[in-house]
Amino acid sequence: RVWNFSAGPAAMPLPVLERAQRELLDWNGSGASVMEQSHRGKRFMTMAQQVEADLRELMGIPDHYAVLFEQGGATQHFAQIPMNLAREGDRADYIVTGHWSEKAASEAAPYVQVNVAATSKAESFLRMPARETWKLDSGAAYVHIATNETIHGVQFKHAPEVGDVPLVADMSSDILSGPIDVSRYGLIYAGAQKNIGPSGLVLVIIRRDLLERATRPMAKIFRYAEHAAHDSMLNTPNTWGWYLAGLTFQWLKENGGLAAMDVLNRQKSQMLYAAIDGSGGYYRNPIDPPVRSRMNVPFTLHDSSLDAAFLQESEAAGLLALKGHKAVGGMRASLYNAVPMEAVQALVDFMSEFSRRHG
Ligand code: PLP
Repeated sequence: RVWNFSAGPAAMPLPVLERAQRELLDWNGSGASVMEQSHRGKRFMTMAQQVEADLRELMGIPDHYAVLFEQGGATQHFAQIPMNLAREGDRADYIVTGHWSEKAASEAAPYVQVNVAATSKAESFLRMPARETWKLDSGAAYVHIATNETIHGVQFKHAPEVGDVPLVADMSSDILSGPIDVSRYGLIYAGAQKNIGPSGLVLVIIRRDLLERATRPMAKIFRYAEHAAHDSMLNTPNTWGWYLAGLTFQWLKENGGLAAMDVLNRQKSQMLYAAIDGSGGYYRNPIDPPVRSRMNVPFTLHDSSLDAAFLQESEAAGLLALKGHKAVGGMRASLYNAVPMEAVQALVDFMSEFSRRHG
């Protein structure tokens, strides 16, 4: 198999795929695939509960938080969050640090009065707006951040202090990449297709008292409290995604949990940033070093006319999906949990050889 640096849908841990392959036709002694099981059947329900228990253990999720296995992509939750957390006429603070937090703010606008309390847009999102400059509103329904900007490559290394207002975080591209203190957040959400499993599943971790906030009229399917009351089985859930997420959580537990991922992700990203910074300007990452993402590393070549050759030759060398997002250009290497050190070593070796060959 190739080394896959895709930003998402992204590489999955090989042991997870191999196990899914082994179990595809006969899951759990049932004689049928997990995809062919009723979500209300005993086998599936038992597994589903175990998956939630494993996630709670991995992340240290307190009992006063509900864990929801949702659908609609993180994008649907850009809207569903204000629908549930803001009452008519409420205001919410958004910290805009890149493409995804900007989109979260614009998608929330039909449902809440959006206040951009801080943004680094004028600096092309190359740094984080300093916490002292944030203009937070103590009466806001919540403060929204994206902990990791998948396209721009900037990341919060700690939960920012926002007082008593619930902190809402899009963790789509860095959930499970290291330990966090869940109790610092009111709501955490993440599309699955980077560190969890296949696209089409979204995890929502919400402090239970916030489930009571939703007072505006809306269909049950949009109401988090309904999903919590029905154990995420208000309708047919993404059973395949739920199952694969479970295999990923087991793999994480067998491999030292989030503390081990933290060490590995630090080493991987340090190796790649060192190769970029040590290339004498051949490669460049313009992000303020303390906020550089450990998950998504965008970089450019000193001469963009070499981009096509870089992409063609890297793919031929078994290094997949290095093309950068069109919003920033150049290259991007995503180093999620499933990307091993060996893959990063292969990438930095290729980069060094490419620079020698193309002078
Ligand atoms: N938020 C972040 C940080 C992302 O990286 C992405 C997608 O890559 C999204 C939200 C949107 O997710 P989805 O495509 O699942 O709606």
